[in-house]
Amino acid sequence: MNLAGKTAVITGGSRGIGRAVALKMAENGADIAVIYAGNTQAAGAVRAEAAGFGVKAEIYQCLVENGEQVKEVCGAIAEKFGKVDILVNNAGITKDQLIIKMSEADFERVIDVNLKGAFNCIRHFCRHILRSPEGRIINISSVIGLTGNVGQISYAASKAGIIGLTKTAAKEFAGRGVTCNAIAPGYIETDMTAGLPEIMIQKLKSAIPLGRTGNTGDVAELAVFLASGLAGYITGEVIRVDGGMAM
Ligand code: NDP
Repeated sequence: MNLAGKTAVITGGSRGIGRAVALKMAENGADIAVIYAGNTQAAGAVRAEAAGFGVKAEIYQCLVENGEQVKEVCGAIAEKFGKVDILVNNAGITKDQLIIKMSEADFERVIDVNLKGAFNCIRHFCRHILRSPEGRIINISSVIGLTGNVGQISYAASKAGIIGLTKTAAKEFAGRGVTCNAIAPGYIETDMTAGLPEIMIQKLKSAIPLGRTGNTGDVAELAVFLASGLAGYITGEVIRVDGGMAM
C-alpha cells in the first residue's frame, strides 16, 4: 500500500482515529497535512512522529465548519505541498442528548462540524484532488449513521448525511477517476468514547460479535487501503469497521 509521492490532508488528525490515519499514511510514504481545531500540542506531536518516517508533515489550525478558514488553509496547503491527492474527512464531535432534551443549538453544532465541515473540505479541496491521477476522498461516518442510537439524534443525522455526501461526491467525481468512500467505525477507543459510563461500555462490548472494542489502527489500515492504488475500483461504498456490531 505504497503512498509515496502522495499528499494527504487529514482533518481532526491531531488525536484519535485521525491521528492514527495520518501516521499510517505517513508510514506508507505520504506527505501529510493535519488539520486540527485547537490542540496544537497534540498536532505538533503528530507532525514530529510523521517526520520520523521521512515525509513532509505540516499542521494547520482550522475549524472545518468555517468555510472561509477551510478555503484559506486549502490555499496554504496547496502552496506548501504543490498538490493534494487524498482528503480524509475525519473531524467530528458529539453532543449527545435525548430528543426531548436536545437544544436547537446543540443539534446545529454537531451538524455544522460533522457534516458541513466535510462538505466545506470537499468543496475547497476537490479542485486539487480532481487534478490528481489517483484522487481519493475518504469520509469517516459511523455505524450510528446506519442504525441510529438513543441519545444521539444529531450525531446519527450527521453521520447518515455523510453517506449521502459520499455517494454524491463519488458520482460527481467518478468521471475524473476520483473515488469517494465512507468508513463507518463501530466502538473505537479514543478520547471521544473515553467519557462513556462503564455500564454503557460493557453493554456496547457485549454487542460486538468479535468480542472486543476497536482501536484506531483498525480504522487507519482501511483508510490507507482506500487511499492506495489497490482500491481504485471502489467508490461510493460504505465500509463498517465494527467487529460485526451493526451487521
Ligand atoms: P476525538 O475526539 O478523539 O478527536 C477529534 C478530532 O477532531 C481532534 O483531532 C480534534 O482536534 C478534531 N476536531 C474537533 N472539532 C473540530 C473542528 N471543528 N474543526 C477541525 N477539527 C476538529 O475523536 P475520534 O478520533 O473518536 O473520532 C474521529 C472521527 O471518527 C469522528 O468523526 C467521529 O465521529 C468518528 N467516529 C468515532 C468513533 C469512535 O468510537 N471513537 C466511532 C465512529 C465514528 P483537536 O485535537 O484540536 O481538538
